[in-house]
Amino acid sequence: MNDCIFCGILAGEIPADVVAESETVLAFRDRNPQAPLHVLVIPRTHATNVAELADLEPETVAELVRVAQRVTADAGYDSYRLVANTGEDAGQSVFHTHLHVLAGRTQAWPPG
Ligand code: AMP
Repeated sequence: MNDCIFCGILAGEIPADVVAESETVLAFRDRNPQAPLHVLVIPRTHATNVAELADLEPETVAELVRVAQRVTADAGYDSYRLVANTGEDAGQSVFHTHLHVLAGRTQAWPPG
């Protein structure tokens, strides 16, 4: 997975502002934040998207959500949005599973 930027972060080859981690996931700040809190939670196992991860490691999907909840609570927020863009038309640009965790501002619905 040499060309996967998130695998590079997991390997310590690419710097990241890590805010939380567990045995199976890592959480770090998005480099282009769209809210006061914008964190990405990724599995240590490479999977292209969250559905593929659900097939490979269903427990890790649950862990992504648990760590997202912990990160928002630690930052003092009780409202947040989780986004898992899946496929280019949905806005996915990095093909290693990630949950966007967005909090700290009022968020419009539907998203663009
Ligand atoms: P998506 O478009 O849903 O695939 O989201 C990918 C996200 O990864 C974008 O919000 C980018 O800003 C973010 N991103 C890409 N490279 C890095 C990086 N090296 N460190 C932090 N965030 C990144």
